[in-house]
Amino acid sequence: MEYWSTRDKTVRLSGAEAVEMGLSRDGGLLTPTRIPQIDRTFIEALIPEPYAVRAAKIMALYLTDYTEAELRSFGENAYGPEKFDDPAAAPVRRINDNTWCLELWHGPTSAFKDMALQMLPQLLSAALKKTGEDRTACILVATSGDTGKAAMEGFSDVDQTRILVFYPKDGVSEVQEAQMVTQEGANVGVCAVKGNFDDAQAGVKRVFSDAEIRTELSRRGYFLSSANSINWGRILPQIVYYVSAYCDLVRDGSLSYGDPVHFCVPTGNFGDILAAWYAGRMGLPIGKLICASNRNDVLTDFLRTGVYDRNRPFHTTMSPSMDILVSSNLERLLFALSGEDTAAVRGWMDALNREGRYEVSPAVKEALTEQFWGGFCDEAGTSAAIARYWKDYRYLIDTHTAVAADVLDQYRRTTGDETPAVFASTASPYKFCDHVLDAIGEGGQGSGLDLLDRLHAVTGLPVPKRLAALRGKDRRFTLTAEKAEMDRVVLDFLS
Ligand SMILES: *Cc1c(COP(=O)(O)O)cnc(C)c1O
Repeated sequence: MEYWSTRDKTVRLSGAEAVEMGLSRDGGLLTPTRIPQIDRTFIEALIPEPYAVRAAKIMALYLTDYTEAELRSFGENAYGPEKFDDPAAAPVRRINDNTWCLELWHGPTSAFKDMALQMLPQLLSAALKKTGEDRTACILVATSGDTGKAAMEGFSDVDQTRILVFYPKDGVSEVQEAQMVTQEGANVGVCAVKGNFDDAQAGVKRVFSDAEIRTELSRRGYFLSSANSINWGRILPQIVYYVSAYCDLVRDGSLSYGDPVHFCVPTGNFGDILAAWYAGRMGLPIGKLICASNRNDVLTDFLRTGVYDRNRPFHTTMSPSMDILVSSNLERLLFALSGEDTAAVRGWMDALNREGRYEVSPAVKEALTEQFWGGFCDEAGTSAAIARYWKDYRYLIDTHTAVAADVLDQYRRTTGDETPAVFASTASPYKFCDHVLDAIGEGGQGSGLDLLDRLHAVTGLPVPKRLAALRGKDRRFTLTAEKAEMDRVVLDFLS
């Protein structure tokens, strides 16, 4: 299987090269040249297998330069009992007769980013060997809160790698910040940026595309790579849990093979929902993909009108990992839906850079409307959804998951479509204790870390061990930079 760029189809890379490079040199996203197909026999063979084996078999279809045995051992390391506190890794919970929740936060950092970031470092380490790369990979990460921690947790003390994380200074929750600034590992660095997530992401993209910095770093024995969801090695492990959820629903008799299921996904950078889209394209019986946004509703408008327009206020919300106005992974979808038209993709991305806005062709718009439904949920709606799910089902959800739960309800009210649906739960409620306690009427004032106990006392649900352990940890990182200084921070980190 080869990979090409969404902006240049003459680029041809192996899976290992694509994982190593992260982003194509032309600024495009590296994408498989074809989508492998799965069928009933494939799914039925996966049903009795544990998550790690499901992951290996699905990923092997795309990473043909890795062996299935290799991927299986990565899967066992990534999703085993040392890392995940649920043996299913990504369990599916029944909410009612036609609704399930796919819990993606049982990994070491209590957010769904672990599903990919426990795997990516292993894919990258193996890639360095496969390609004979002897420089050290420096992973640059811009994070809206969860990626940074999950990436450091995955890369901490991994040979031949260093990792530097930039997070928006006032854009992450207290627990998220505590998780990042206490991270252990000799190869990690953390820097707060004065600005929002889009500023941090733009700064990282700028460093990536700066030829002078690249040359200088290479002289020092480093090359840059990415752990953001622009890296194919992030998207691929996420395809697995959609297939796995379908396997579980068939295994439990909730669906018969072939019955369509909708997935509703709380969305920021469009990575998670894009993985669901790939699963559908591979042949998984998916109905609609429901794209759930918070008040930063640029994707809702886009899916309804075909116009992507980031010229709008940026809102800081209680679901900070979705506070994003430029959803990078949309480029992969547009590339596919336009019939792999690199000129069209370049045109849209140029317009986005120049004017902050573009409009897709009628054909692309039609494909979008057919496959997706977009909705958003404001702050009051998010709290209300947390309260409703707790009251009606005794099921506690975090602020991001609540956005998805609410948008799924909106979809059903608007369309009358009661097809079985799964919404993705992307973080443990314990990561956002203050808002969750507020929502269920238990008062969320106080320090984020003290609130862990309060939420436990009120709900009786177990506190994830690693979050409980944060209290005893020392802060290791205090650096804050202006967004214009990010280049220098990178050079200093690798000096
Ligand atoms: C990152 C994140 C999201 C958004 O995922 P994307 O892949 O960026 O769309 C949603 N919820 C949580 C908790 C996250 O950490």
